[in-house]
Parts: sequence; structure tokens; C-alpha cells
Amino acid sequence: MGLALFTKLPNVLTLGSLYLIRYYLKSEEEALNFNLTEQQEMFQREVRKFAEAETTPLVDIMDRENTFPQEIRPKLAAMNLYGIPWEQKYGGAGSDYVSLTIALVELAKVIAPLSMHVQCQHTVGDRFNKLGTEEQKQRFMVPICEGKMVGCFCFTEPDTGSHPKMIKTTAVEDGDSYVLNGTKRFVTNGRFADVAFIFAKLEGDISLFLVDTNTKGFSRGPKMDKLGLRGTELCDLIMDDVRIPRENLMGGKGGKFDALKDAMTLGKLCLSAHCIGLMQAALDEAIKYSMTRMHFDEPIFDLQAIHWLLAEMASRLEASRWLTYRAAFLKDQGLDTIKDMAITKLFVTQTAVDVCRFGMQVHGAYGISKEYKIERIFRDAKMYELLEGTSEIQRELIVKRLPR
Ligand SMILES: Cc1cc2nc3c(=O)[nH]c(=O)nc-3n(C[C@H](O)[C@H](O)[C@H](O)COP(=O)(O)OP(=O)(O)OC[C@H]3O[C@@H](n4cnc5c(N)ncnc54)[C@H](O)[C@@H]3O)c2cc1C
Repeated sequence: MGLALFTKLPNVLTLGSLYLIRYYLKSEEEALNFNLTEQQEMFQREVRKFAEAETTPLVDIMDRENTFPQEIRPKLAAMNLYGIPWEQKYGGAGSDYVSLTIALVELAKVIAPLSMHVQCQHTVGDRFNKLGTEEQKQRFMVPICEGKMVGCFCFTEPDTGSHPKMIKTTAVEDGDSYVLNGTKRFVTNGRFADVAFIFAKLEGDISLFLVDTNTKGFSRGPKMDKLGLRGTELCDLIMDDVRIPRENLMGGKGGKFDALKDAMTLGKLCLSAHCIGLMQAALDEAIKYSMTRMHFDEPIFDLQAIHWLLAEMASRLEASRWLTYRAAFLKDQGLDTIKDMAITKLFVTQTAVDVCRFGMQVHGAYGISKEYKIERIFRDAKMYELLEGTSEIQRELIVKRLPR
């Protein structure tokens, strides 16, 4: 993606040099080329086709029955959607974060909780990629990318989702093992994950542990019945004297608050991508509905009040889309910061709730009926303000990083 201007312009302005402006903006075409590459466009078409054909039939089972359809896993793997940015030697597609964003947008446009499942696999793969030994990368990333293994990422606990220092899960060193005790809450993929990344306190500091969910003392709570993103099978994970080998301490003792922040930075990008998919679906549904719903002899699409809603939806979606792709581009350049990602996540997730609400308004009372897609889209959109740090926490992250 040719988003060079995004990264270069601030430097240019800092230097305040006309010469440098000329240098960087050699030609308008080069500097303002925000298009996807040909390869990314082809990938987008393929994932869109896949999502429409293979995942549309899953909407009912996921949303109405709140169940994850396991049969989709080999199909997602065959499309190489479980390890988009990872190296091919670890089973990945060897692609980039812009492509991951494209995939999550396309999946979420049809069914957001499936996009959530794919994101979670990437969060887990990302930890192995960054903290795992060569042996762990081969042993875990390859089956994750093949869809043969599911992972989950566990920070939240009954007493906190916002404050890492408040976590109560403990790990105690015992000979060649660590023994873990505690409860993790709201775990995506939790009901069927094979491996779990668990944040726990070891000697008073936050460490990260890899736990095989078949280990003695490890159990899962019931599936949570919830408003939106149904089918992600959220649950509690309970550890009662779970003994794991020494090598499952990931990246050494302590200091893993940074690993958590890093993982959540990727999470913020992914959630923003889901919201783009949801907003696009809301806009598509609102246009379709307004063109068929009649007011006297005219479709409501012709009413100025509906124009205003549709125009607001389209404008806010477009702004969100650019923020999100910019964030993906920055991540591909290794230039992403917590502030960039928090700004993106805050704006896009709040905007998604507004855009989906406008979409529902266009549907009148039919918008609350389960006969119409907008009802599910609206419920799903609300969830994103509460994940990977609530909106309030994003504001704190941003303000702490403002220049003063
Ligand atoms: C669909 C879904 C999937 C999830 N998946 C996972 C998962 O896979 N793994 C995982 O670990 N967690 C997961 N979570 C949990 C999620 O990350 C937490 O719920 C979230 O971080 C909020 O935590 P909390 O609910 O405990 O809220 P709390 O931390 O109790 O906050 C309650 C309220 O107080 C506000 N607040 C708290 N502290 C401050 C502050 N300092 N300043 C201003 N306001 C503040 C919050 O914004 C919020 O409004 C998931 C949640 C959902 C909804």
C-alpha cells in the first residue's frame, strides 16, 4: 500500500523545509497513492468470494445458537487466513498487516464473530512469533496456521479487565515446573482452545505462560450467553494447581506488561478492521432497505432525512477505513505506536456504534426484528467498545502520550 505520505509528512513539517517537501512529494501520484497493491486487491476479491460463499451459511448457527462451527477451520486454513503475516516456514502466508486487515474486514462484513476467531489465532501466533523458541514456533505456529490447533489469550479476570496490576492469577516455581492458580474471564475461543496464553503474577511481577488446556487442574466454565459476537464461545478458564513445564514460561520472568501492551496493539488494529466490515454491511443493508421500503409512491431512499443518514454513514465509514488502513500500514513499517492504535480503536469502534445505529434507524421498527441483518450488526458493533481496552482506557492511553 502506497501510504508513504502518512509517515513522512510529520518529519517534513518538523524540519519545515520547502526543499524536503519538494523531495518527498516528488510527484503527486507517488505521494498520494493510497491504493491497495494489485496483489492485495486480488486477495481482497478472493476473501470476499470465500466469505460470501462459505461463511454466509454460518450466520444462523453462530448468532442464533451461539455456537462456533468447527467445520470452517480447515476451510479458513486452506485459504491461508490463520497466519497471514507470519513467515511461510512457520505455516504463514508471508504477507502483511494490510492483508490481515483486508481479510478481517471481509469476514466481519458477513459474520463478525468469525473474524474475531481469526484475530484471536493471530494474537496467539504473534506471541509465539515474538517470544517463542524455534522449537515452539514449529510446534505451535504451524498447526495454528493449519487450523489444527486453536489458541486463546487470557488477561481478563473476574476482578479486572482494565488494570494489569490487579490480576490475581499466580504462578509459583516448583522444581522444574510452574504451578498456576486463578480464573480468567471472557476468553474468546475459550470453550475449545487447545492452548492458552495466561498472564499471571510470578514473584509479584507479570509473566506470560503457555498452558496446554488438557493439563490436570485446568477446566472451562460454561459458554457465556451474550448480546453480540455470539458464537465466539466466551467462557471462564479456571486453573487449580495447574503444573506446567519450565519452558512454558514465555520470554523469561517478569516484565510482561509490555508483551500485553504489544499484543493489545495488534488487537486494536484487528478490532478496527472488524468494525469496518460491520459498518460496510450496515450501509449496504440500509441502502437496500431504503430502496424497497415505500412511502406513498416513493421509496424512502428518496427522502432527504434518509439521504442525511446514509451520507453520515458513508462519510464516517470512509474516515474509519482510512484510519484503520493507515494503522495497518504503520504496523507493516514497524512504526505503529500505542497512541496511533488507541486513536484508531477509539474512533473506529465508537463510530461503528453510531453508523450501525443510523443503519437501524433507516429500517424503522423492522430494524429490531431478527428478520433483518441490521439487528445482529447493531448488537455486534456495541461489543467493540468494550474489548482490548474500553473506550475510557483508550482515552487514558492517548492523553498520556500527548505532547505537552
Ligand atoms: C466479546 C468479548 C471478547 C473478549 N475476549 C477476551 C479475551 O479473549 N481475553 C481476555 O483476556 N479478555 C477478553 N475480553 C475481556 C475484555 O477485554 C474486558 O472485558 C475489558 O478489558 C473490560 O474489562 P472489564 O469488563 O473488567 O471492565 P472494568 O475494568 O471493570 O471497567 C468497568 C468500567 O470502568 C471503566 N474504567 C476502568 N478503569 C478506568 C480508568 N482507569 N479510567 C477510566 N475508566 C475506567 C471502564 O472503561 C468501564 O467502563 C473480552 C470481552 C468481550 C466483550
